[in-house]
Amino acid sequence: MPGIDPDITGWLKHSFIDYPGKVSTVLFFSGCNLRCPYCHNPSIVKNLLPPVPFAKIKDYLALRRSIIDGVVISGGEPTIHQSMLPVAASLRKEKFSIKLDTNGLNPQMIEKCNPDYLAVDIKTSFCRYSELSCVMNDCKERLTDTLEIVRKMGEQAEVRITVAPLLIDDSVITELADILKGVAKIYLQPFNRTSELLDPSYKELEPVSQEKIQEYRDYIEQITGACKIRGE
Ligand code: SF4
Repeated sequence: MPGIDPDITGWLKHSFIDYPGKVSTVLFFSGCNLRCPYCHNPSIVKNLLPPVPFAKIKDYLALRRSIIDGVVISGGEPTIHQSMLPVAASLRKEKFSIKLDTNGLNPQMIEKCNPDYLAVDIKTSFCRYSELSCVMNDCKERLTDTLEIVRKMGEQAEVRITVAPLLIDDSVITELADILKGVAKIYLQPFNRTSELLDPSYKELEPVSQEKIQEYRDYIEQITGACKIRGE
């Protein structure tokens, strides 16, 4: 399939945690339209890794059809690549369930992909995405459209919020809790500074305390009835 190979630059052959209820393989598409300082995949975001041939992935999956039942399309940000669509279609044709991990900035691509499960990362206030190098002037509208898709998908979609210092605070949580009404599953995840980060200076920042994260969880739960801390 011409045009696909250059965009997949990482591959986790087996995962028990990336697709709820399924054993999955995870494909990492290169590049991203954001630059989150706490990003754990700087090499993928900066497109520094060699491509993984899609034919190799398909051959591998064909031999493990009885073990692996889902494919996670992740990144980087997969929705910046048109090639994500034929990849998803090709794997769906082989009866694999498709999960899409995205930052939510491309609702049209999400709709075209039509994943069986959707995970959307919300980073901060919709008005503050320029701090993540977002150059779109309509990112608020785009994220709002994506959340509409999330609501329609019910239990088959989730929103994730990394509680990162400087990007998440009391006022952001208050705003997001209101925006996220009607979303079936919301997860808060602590900021992890132990691995390589896109902005190494973020390693010097103190993570938000567990008590504060629990306070945020309680607040969002009160407004939406749908919030948990990842891993609890
Ligand atoms: S965390 Fe996700 S959205 Fe942010 S830079 Fe990394 S891949 Fe892109």
